[in-house]
Amino acid sequence: MTAHILLVEDEPSIAEIVEFALVSEGFQVTWCALVRDAEIDLSRNTPDLAILDIGLPDGSGLELLKRLRRDSDLPVLILSARNAELDRVLGLELGADDYVTKPFSPRELAARVKAILKRTVVRTVRDHAPLEASEVSASNESGFEVDEVRATIRFRGYSLMLTRYEYLILKTLLAQPERVFSRAQLMDQIWSDPTASFERSVDTHIKTLRAKLREIEPCFDPIRTHRGLGYSIQISDVG
Ligand code: CA
Repeated sequence: MTAHILLVEDEPSIAEIVEFALVSEGFQVTWCALVRDAEIDLSRNTPDLAILDIGLPDGSGLELLKRLRRDSDLPVLILSARNAELDRVLGLELGADDYVTKPFSPRELAARVKAILKRTVVRTVRDHAPLEASEVSASNESGFEVDEVRATIRFRGYSLMLTRYEYLILKTLLAQPERVFSRAQLMDQIWSDPTASFERSVDTHIKTLRAKLREIEPCFDPIRTHRGLGYSIQISDVG
């Protein structure tokens, strides 16, 4: 099945390059130059992924992402003209799946899109398949079950709807309960290119992870913050 990509980019020359790279990889692309047009398209169609430029003539890609995230987990890749930490962090906080900073290699962009879609497929398959005991690679008295085959974690029987980074952070912490991981250690283990990310993004993912655990158990916060050091997970005194 052909994946459908919504491209929101106001610069025709960039849009053309991106569209060409994606179509060459077999994707179907809808191009919008305005936030307004993108919103109309999103109300009519269901793309598999959206690529959002930040600076658009009638608004910001980040604002569009924010509105999208109210009721959608559509995979989003942000195209940022500025290599600004603030944009990256804000994009992560708003739930972007990945970033590409201009100028970029169209081939790399297409590879990133493929990688996001691959993870999304794993997530979709996982959501429809019940866990089998043999596939649960880690389970403990705290109620966490890590299913590495489906890249998911269940807590007290509930599947946590985790982003890739939340999943990897929680999995890493659970592998060695009570060990304190510094942000840099977490990034080295988890990010494919730690130098392209910022330590504050670890904090952002920890924050959303905690919120998801609280949705299941309002008073439950097994993740400990060690000031100036990093994070650990405590599993012995919960249950
Ligand atoms: Ca722009």
